[in-house]
Amino acid sequence: MIKYILFDLDETLYPTETGLMAAVGRRILQYMQERVGIDPTLARDLRRHYYQTYGATLKGLQIHHNVDPDDYLAYVHDVPLGDYLQPDEALDRALTEIQAEKIVFTNATTEHARRVLGCLGVEHHFSRIVDVRAMNYENKPQPGAYRRVLEILRARPEECLMVEDSVRNLSPAKELGMVTVLVNGSGGDGVDFAIDDVAQVGEVFTRIQREGKR
Ligand SMILES: [Mg+2]
Repeated sequence: MIKYILFDLDETLYPTETGLMAAVGRRILQYMQERVGIDPTLARDLRRHYYQTYGATLKGLQIHHNVDPDDYLAYVHDVPLGDYLQPDEALDRALTEIQAEKIVFTNATTEHARRVLGCLGVEHHFSRIVDVRAMNYENKPQPGAYRRVLEILRARPEECLMVEDSVRNLSPAKELGMVTVLVNGSGGDGVDFAIDDVAQVGEVFTRIQREGKR
């Protein structure tokens, strides 16, 4: 029985095509160059390396450059969200119909999550935001992130449905026993269901409640 739906935020609750994460990506490169002093010709490769190694650029910058996470997070999310996002009525309707507690589970911050949810017009659906600070900066896909969200919710893994655009972030959830939904991808290891649009999550939820997970 699914009681909780854990939604990733960025590029899960809104599509990649909005361009928002590309804008955040430019801020990240700017931060690496201007604040950390990394050579502009190296910044892009280093960012990719940290992201692939640690699941988040921030983690690499903390470990190797002693970056203050709050300074970094405020800087990279300082983009005009209204230029990229608008209210999503289909998502609003879909979330209204799902009878389960909805949580945002994000490697970003609560402030960024609130602003994104506000632009999408869906903030009222979510009971909680579990952000990177709540995870003690042990971002997804590090195992500590998943243990932490379960602890905060006092939930068992099999009571959770996790919705994400990253296969890599779904794998640890699946290993723990959560049911996993990939948005905007065709599938992969540890993916129970794949959907094109996050608004389809209601159909997956109904199916699981009726038939059990696959
Ligand atoms: Mg994402």
